[in-house]
Amino acid sequence: MRAASRAQRSQEKKIGLVPTMGYLHEGHLSLLRTARKRSDFLVMSLFVNPTQFAPNEDLDRYPRDEEGDLKKAEACGVDVVFKPEADTMYPTGFQTTIDVPELGKHLCGASRPGHFSGVATVVTKLLNVTLPDLAVFGEKDFQQLAIIRRLVQDLDLEVEIIGEPIIREEDGMAMSSRNAYLKPNERKQALGLSRGLGAAKLRFEQGAHDAVTLLGAAHAVIAASPLARIDYLALCDVDTLEAVDEVRRPAVLATAAHFGRTRLIDNIILRPS
Ligand code: AMP
Repeated sequence: MRAASRAQRSQEKKIGLVPTMGYLHEGHLSLLRTARKRSDFLVMSLFVNPTQFAPNEDLDRYPRDEEGDLKKAEACGVDVVFKPEADTMYPTGFQTTIDVPELGKHLCGASRPGHFSGVATVVTKLLNVTLPDLAVFGEKDFQQLAIIRRLVQDLDLEVEIIGEPIIREEDGMAMSSRNAYLKPNERKQALGLSRGLGAAKLRFEQGAHDAVTLLGAAHAVIAASPLARIDYLALCDVDTLEAVDEVRRPAVLATAAHFGRTRLIDNIILRPS
């Protein structure tokens, strides 16, 4: 992989990277299209990274469709799919990890200990192996994006990080590979997540900028789904991810909830005018 990237770099070609765990949907494809426009050589990584899953999580049943993914990647103009094996990425003796502790302690970090260390470490490895000029990530995983921006800055990595907006289903539900797990009644009720965030956004646009009102508006809708087991619902500064009482500068309203065995996340960004 690195030899292929070096060859491109020696010809002054711009390399774009889109890291994925596969089971591609329109959200992934939008990242690929952005990266395609902005690079000469487009690499997509396809790796279900075991170190970002806790033992009780869904690593073993994570949905896979390699054949479909390769077709979609090709249709988006991907030049190379980098698809390493876990024991190539983590051979015997592997022990180094990257931690971004402050950004990593909030939101998903609180309920998924070790998750972001796994993400930060694998993304650093993917950047080091594929040598991209730019890498594209989705705002769907808002905390992940913040952590990657931070580590790139802190470790002086020479790569531009581009964030892309969340792609949603027609009814507003954020696209996710994990949506494939949902039973029909869970899928219906999971719509409460995006609806709840939408209700808060409406209150925000009507002038409510305080956390109590905005979180209350979202909570009322999400909690109305009897199947929803809310992990968190929080209003945070977009840069520090610290909780805020009032939206004075851009904030992210983020949520995670379980529907049956499936954990889903969603967020919206609120920007005061
Ligand atoms: P994953 O395969 O779930 O690890 O996601 C790979 C990349 O796609 C990450 O940067 C995600 O944030 C991004 N992504 C996943 N779902 C969406 C979505 N609905 N809209 C935009 N980006 C997404």
